[in-house]
Amino acid sequence: MKVYTSPDLPMVGHIKNILESKGIACIIQGQFSSAAVGEIPAIECWPELWVVDKTQLEEAKIIVKEALDPPTQNLRPWKCRYCQEVIEGQFTACWNCGAERE
Ligand SMILES: [Zn+2]
Repeated sequence: MKVYTSPDLPMVGHIKNILESKGIACIIQGQFSSAAVGEIPAIECWPELWVVDKTQLEEAKIIVKEALDPPTQNLRPWKCRYCQEVIEGQFTACWNCGAERE
């Protein structure tokens, strides 16, 4: 059951991590099928994220939508005031030293 596709493989991996953190098993399909580029529309070569258990598909779609459309204040990367590490906007604590976001 395809729940998400994007030409941006790291983004697909990111969405996969989010879903798995919610207990939804998923797999990335199609990321190696680049052999036919030029023969078929490029979108068919995009990596696809598939939910293993179709009963979780609707839940997964909601999570993906929230992951792709978060509140804007959470989108911006922020800098840890203790270790100066730059943290991606979706995290609320520094992954490096564990400090809470201000
Ligand atoms: Zn830090």
